[in-house]
Amino acid sequence: MKNKVIGVDIGGTNIKIGILTKQGKIIQKTSIPTNPKEGPEKIIKRVCSRIKDLCNERKIKISDIIRIGIGCPGPLDSKRGIIIKTPNLPGWENFHLKKRIESGLKIPAIVNNDANSATYGEYWLGAGKGYSTIVCFTLGTGIGGGIILNGKLFKGIDDTAGHLGHITIIPDGPRCRCGNRGCLEALASAPNLVRKAIEGINSGIKTKLTSLSKGKLQAITSQMIYLSASQGDKFSRELLDETGRYLGIAVAGILNTLNPEIVIFSGGMIEAGELLFKPLRKEAKRRAFPQPAKRVKIVKAKLGNDAGIIGSVGLALRGDNF
Ligand SMILES: [Zn+2]
Repeated sequence: MKNKVIGVDIGGTNIKIGILTKQGKIIQKTSIPTNPKEGPEKIIKRVCSRIKDLCNERKIKISDIIRIGIGCPGPLDSKRGIIIKTPNLPGWENFHLKKRIESGLKIPAIVNNDANSATYGEYWLGAGKGYSTIVCFTLGTGIGGGIILNGKLFKGIDDTAGHLGHITIIPDGPRCRCGNRGCLEALASAPNLVRKAIEGINSGIKTKLTSLSKGKLQAITSQMIYLSASQGDKFSRELLDETGRYLGIAVAGILNTLNPEIVIFSGGMIEAGELLFKPLRKEAKRRAFPQPAKRVKIVKAKLGNDAGIIGSVGLALRGDNF
């Protein structure tokens, strides 16, 4: 019966693939290494053959697949399914992802930005379920985002909406990967947190991180910073406090602009829990107008690593790109 959907979430390190029901329930999922050096043609060939294997394993015919939804880093043209540029995937410039997948599998493919797909996943079946105006931040190596307005993914006129990591927080702040200065991403991403920790230790600050990393500063991870903060380390708490404040400043601007019902944070950094969310909420509510500040819920995402494949499937079924 033609009632299954494939979801694919392409990342710089791994590619997640799932077979889902039309209701978004995962029947089978797997992950394969991206090996970005192989280039897009080879990678997509591997994705197609893994999808075929996965269907065979579950005795699902390829002809029973309604559509395939793909989340991919951008910027990209979601209508035509063409990747414009991806900093973490060399050789994908102007790659016709939709066409390649469709010719490999003979299933209609829908391509969307990865952060938009994850946002749609949270809206459909995660922390945003039941709400219609949602903003989602994805906190990873970079900071991405997505916006759902009145139940519809908002892509902007050129498919570039939702790049929340590149809101300017400090006009002359540190240089961002995008070339601008003082973007949220350059101030509040996980790698930045680690960089600040190392800088602090080098300048003579006493912190538990020195013993946790056994004196090897390069071994410091963001998880280590959450751990030492939860054990009461003052410096680690200050770092999370500052990160939370920067995120809160961005959220305040969004609350005043869009008046969302809920703001969702996903990605590894949410492991820091209230040590991050408390200063974040405080700053957002302090800066935003009282009404949107009172209304909004600022919460953790619920779907974890599955948000991308679930959201890609949701968007593929919805078919806004047709
Ligand atoms: Zn930037």
